[in-house]
Order: sequence, then C-alpha cells, then structure tokens
Amino acid sequence: MKKLYYDSSYIKEFEGTVLSCEKGKKGYEVVLDQTAFYPEGGGQPTDTGVLGGVKVLEVHEKQGIVTHYLEAPLNVGETVHGVIDWEPRFIHMQEHSGEHLVSGLIHERFGYDNVGFHMGADEVTIDFNGLIEWDELMEIETKANEIIWENREIYADFPEKEELDALDYRSKKELTGDVRIVKIPGGDICACCGTHVKLTGEIGLVKFLSMIHYKGGVRISLLCGKRAMADYEKKRAEVQKISNLLSAKPTEISSAVEKMKGEISKLQEKLSECYRGMIENRVAGLECSEDNFYIIEKDFGAQHLRMLANRLLDEKKAKTVLALSGNKDNGFIYIMGSQEEDMRLLSKELNQTLSGRGGGSVQMAQGTFFAEEAQLDAILSEKGFKKIN
Ligand SMILES: [Zn+2]
Repeated sequence: MKKLYYDSSYIKEFEGTVLSCEKGKKGYEVVLDQTAFYPEGGGQPTDTGVLGGVKVLEVHEKQGIVTHYLEAPLNVGETVHGVIDWEPRFIHMQEHSGEHLVSGLIHERFGYDNVGFHMGADEVTIDFNGLIEWDELMEIETKANEIIWENREIYADFPEKEELDALDYRSKKELTGDVRIVKIPGGDICACCGTHVKLTGEIGLVKFLSMIHYKGGVRISLLCGKRAMADYEKKRAEVQKISNLLSAKPTEISSAVEKMKGEISKLQEKLSECYRGMIENRVAGLECSEDNFYIIEKDFGAQHLRMLANRLLDEKKAKTVLALSGNKDNGFIYIMGSQEEDMRLLSKELNQTLSGRGGGSVQMAQGTFFAEEAQLDAILSEKGFKKIN
C-alpha cells in the first residue's frame, strides 16, 4: 500500500480503492491501496477525517499495513474520496517539527537524548535523560525561534544507503533497511516516520511552558504555532481579568496580589481580636449548669469554635462541650472537648449517624457533617447534651 503522506505531508484529499473492510471492536476496519491518513505513531497522534463520506475515527499501522477505523462500512473494490481533518493535522506537523528542533538543539548542546515524547490535547511533553536549568532552556528557546524565523527548508525523505551511512542522526533504536530522515539544517537530523512542515517558519513559534525533574532527567512542556498562540490568548484574557479585578497594570499584578495578601493577613489579625472579645463576652454571660452541653454559633470557623470550647471547659468547668457552627445547606463544623470522656468515640458516633467526617485526640475532636437543626437537637439530646443559647 502506498503511504501518500510520505510523498507530501500536505496532501489533504486523495482517492483510494478499498482492499478490505471488516467489522472490528473499534469500528469498521478499512484498508486502502493508498492513503494520506497518518496512523498514530512516533509520538504523533492519529489523523481523523472522512473516507467515502464516512467518519474516520482513528488510523493505526501494524506491520506496514495502515488500517482506518470507520463509523460505517465501505464496499470492497470501490474507489473512495478521503479528506483529512487538516487543522489538527497541521497542528501536529507544527508540534512534531518543533519537537525535533528542540530535541536536536538540546542534544547538540548537552548531549542528552529525547527519551519520551507525547503530543497531548493541551501540550507537548518531551523527556530528556539529563538536567537542564531554566535559563539554559530559555537559550534553547531563543535559538529554536531564530531557526524558525530564518525559514529554513526541512528535508524529510529516505536517503540512499551510502548517504544514510555517512549521516550522524538521532534515533531511539537501531534501524535497518530504509530509514526516513528528517533534517532541519543547523537544527537537527533524526530518524522519524511522522509528518513535518516544509519550512521551519511554519512552526510559527516554540514556547516552553514548564520543566520538572523526571526520572533523573527533565520533562519539558511546550507549545508550538497555533496552539502557542491560543495559549497566549487564554493567558492574556486571564491576566486581563485579574488586572481589572485588582485595578493594576497587567505587568504589575503579582505585586498587587502580594500587597493584597498583606492586607488580608492584617484584617485576619483584627478579625481574630474581635472574635476573642466576642468569645469572652459570650462565655461570661453563659449559665452552664449542665455537665454536657452544646452551643451553635453563626459563622464561626474551626479556630474560633476551638477557642470557645476551650474557654467553656476552662472557665465554666463543663465536662463535655460541643461547639458547632453552620446550617443545613452548607453543613456543620464541630469541635468537641471534654475533661473526662474520650472524644474520639463521640466523634466517631456522630460521624456515623450523620455521615460526617473528622477525628482528633482523646481531649478534643473536630469534624463536619450535614444535618437539619431539629435532627441535630434530637440526636444530641438523646446523648444527654443540653443546648445552651
Ligand atoms: Zn519525529
């Protein structure tokens, strides 16, 4: 079968004769005498499109045979028209050529190998078997983009054996027979079965997004061309939104956030002071003649509930205190403390009854649950707790 994508990676439409069509698990498996559909391989995702008016879901290659997985069957012997979904395919070409360029430059400078390559829906990742600093990576990015803007011509073909033997090319494994070589002048020479752009300018842009340590080396995330532009717009829109919210210039949003965080922590200190005063007043005015009681407060966080429970245990000499805050819609948060009872047991019981969660120590436990206030009153009163207001 003829692989038209090796004649040119720009063939978007073609005619092919159906050699076989069988029903399989992933759709109707169609083999043609020739195809321009690129099968998943070498890190590049499958092409999609339409064949004889039927949707092509995936394309795979096994032992040199390219199989198209279709939504509906085609007639054997029929000549059908194929159309490739060009937009995703061209993006894959930009990304694949960009990946070669970057891998070649990193290999040349650091001697590292590309040991993993994935073109995902959101980004491209490349793994290298050695460590790189971010500043060094930025130098690679600059160099890659210079080569892109110089619009160099990319070679992708099967060289003669003699020429191949004389080439020093990157390859994941030992290759025999016909080897397809993709050459970016001054950038990279690599054995590859994928589809590439003809001129480096078509890559448009290489932009690194992040780098993490991975299996003793690094995993680099990047975007090329059209996806890099879409990412730029997505981030620009987000920065603009933050900039509007903060009333700060887009280039000054991080210092504005730092300032805001400082203000928030000052306000939190003041708020804590207010809560402390409120808790003191609350505790002073409470009559607690019962041994075990519970108290429901509005808008108390765990920290302040804990403060309240501690004051009640210390000052009012309560045996067991359950301090709660919340409502039936948002759920309750609770803190329970005791002079003598094991709070882990009570917490466990309460969590079980109300499908809640939490835990703690013998003296104090905390958790959350959802309940109607009436239901809560009934459960706690049954356990010998009195409500105080
Ligand atoms: Zn490749």
